[in-house]
Amino acid sequence: MSGLRKQTPIGGITTAQSEKQDKGDAQMMRARARRRHHVSRIKRRVRRYYGGYAKDKPRHLGRIARTRQLCSCWMCGNPRRYLGERSLQERRAFQPVESW
Ligand SMILES: [Zn+2]
Repeated sequence: MSGLRKQTPIGGITTAQSEKQDKGDAQMMRARARRRHHVSRIKRRVRRYYGGYAKDKPRHLGRIARTRQLCSCWMCGNPRRYLGERSLQERRAFQPVESW
């Protein structure tokens, strides 16, 4: 991303404070633009989820974009919670060390 060229105030005087402020604003605007970019990207992506039912429903589209895993029943949810299983990471960590 480019743009947002820093402008020198009239007379060419830049104090440290104003410089810092300018940089903060520019970074914030970049961050906001980036966040919006990702939101629109995610929404474009989830548009076709669940047979595209939310394609023309902005509210549902936003919900899917923010909540990818809509269900937490025993089939969809965390196996530790419902079946007492250990996660893959835990299984890996508790694996007996083999000698080589
Ligand atoms: Zn479910």
